[in-house]
Amino acid sequence: MVTNTDVKELGHFINGEIVLGKSGQYSNVYNPSTGAIIARVPLATKEEVQEAISAAKNAFPAWRALSVGKRAEIVLKFRQLLTERMDTLIDMICTESGKTTEDAKGEITRGLESVDLAINAPHLLKGEYSVNVGGNINAYSAKDPLGVVAAISPFNFPVMVPLAITSMAVAVGNCVILKPSERVPCSALFLSELWKEAGLPDGVWTVINGDKDTVNELLSNPTIEAISFVGSTPVADMIYATGSKYGKRVTALGGGKNNMVIMPDADLEQAANAFLGAAYGAASQRCMAISTIMPVGEETANQLVKILAEKISKLKVGPYTDPEVDFGPVITQQSKDTIIGYVDRSVEEGATLVCDGRNPDISKNSNGFYLGPTLLDNVKPGMEIYEQEVFGPARNVVRVESLDEAIALINAHELGNGVTIFTNSGAAARKFTSEIEVGMVGVNVPIPIPVGYHNFGGWKRSKFGEGHMFGPDQVRFFTKTKTISEKWLDQNNESASSFAFPSNNS
Ligand code: NAD
Repeated sequence: MVTNTDVKELGHFINGEIVLGKSGQYSNVYNPSTGAIIARVPLATKEEVQEAISAAKNAFPAWRALSVGKRAEIVLKFRQLLTERMDTLIDMICTESGKTTEDAKGEITRGLESVDLAINAPHLLKGEYSVNVGGNINAYSAKDPLGVVAAISPFNFPVMVPLAITSMAVAVGNCVILKPSERVPCSALFLSELWKEAGLPDGVWTVINGDKDTVNELLSNPTIEAISFVGSTPVADMIYATGSKYGKRVTALGGGKNNMVIMPDADLEQAANAFLGAAYGAASQRCMAISTIMPVGEETANQLVKILAEKISKLKVGPYTDPEVDFGPVITQQSKDTIIGYVDRSVEEGATLVCDGRNPDISKNSNGFYLGPTLLDNVKPGMEIYEQEVFGPARNVVRVESLDEAIALINAHELGNGVTIFTNSGAAARKFTSEIEVGMVGVNVPIPIPVGYHNFGGWKRSKFGEGHMFGPDQVRFFTKTKTISEKWLDQNNESASSFAFPSNNS
């Protein structure tokens, strides 16, 4: 039973302080495992966003001027605090997102990889130097921070994505404004406390809560130099177009529709086990979740579907408080209804319902937003469930006759985030990895998420802009290069004017 006193009022984190919202507008934050409202998060007005930006702008000169080693020391301390408070953070992620404890731990561990890379900022910021490029001139390049940058994150990784798109930005000398998903704001506010405790100067890290009005101000405000966005494709598309129109550097990562191709020579038991975790883990709310399994050949498909049906019937859905569960609820009741709608319509369109998760047992005793695992066979291109990203545990089997057909189908889809092939044939793997038009590719790896020191990002409408989420691209995205040509004059130097274009002949 929830009473009003159980509902916490959250705020923003501006200039080193938690401040309550002034707009009078709020969004409810749910515990998806129980369906209870646990908090209400303020939706910032334009003026509140401007106030936050102005505090960040004031903090920038001193932060930028601090030595990179000192900045890295603060990031290192932040990392230590993240590991010390890992249990609190896990509990927060589980409560507001419904993830299992193990999954939340995995998310934090992945996020830490980005922090680790950021601790290396002193090394990564080293420029290039050339001695005597001509006329005793030395040339070198430096990477300067951009200024105030914004990061906008989705609900499905309350900690990993904020860490991945902000840690390097801070380390290389920017002031960062994070707008987390209004569905999971608690974890982001907790990160603010850790930054403060780590010694980050006020104004360098800001959390501004809100929805699209808040984002619109970040997109158009002239002080914001860059936008790093992660979320759904339609919003990513809009963010890229609008941010670019206002002259900002933008990287916007969108959704995925990821395939797992199963060759006839693959071990089907192993492939099925790999599919289960990659497809249904986190209630399929991962941009890299496998949506579609593509067995090659009728015999492979028949055997695989039989194995999967048996294994799926044993999966357990439930709250994170039960250590036995394989995955938890989806994020909201609205999301649950949307996914059920996709399944209903795919059956009308001719798909075969192999496992029906629309009404799991747990829903009889809980108001949590639960869905069991659904598997649909005979899904075909053109069906809504094949074309759209379905952010919940309704997964497809698309039967294909050959590897060529699989590659052609995957390449024709508008999304290109992740993909994987299960095979024992080096030749098939080689053909697949070279011909496939997808950003992150696996061979016998179910979720080919690059580690934190490699670049992460999809192709086609899964990513807009040139940056990436993890990896060395973070340094390039959050800095601008300055190239300096330097010569020191003494009395022996000639000082005649030259009107020819500078050349390097002398
Ligand atoms: P979303 O697009 O609804 O929201 C993402 C962020 O944008 C949130 O902060 C939200 O407040 C804001 N937002 C939403 N609508 C907006 C609008 N009209 N104008 C301005 N801002 C808006 O995404 P979500 O439901 O929170 O997250 C799930 C989606 O994110 C999935 O599509 C998933 O694939 C994608 N995702 C992608 C990656 C990746 O690396 N490519 C990683 C994680 C999640």
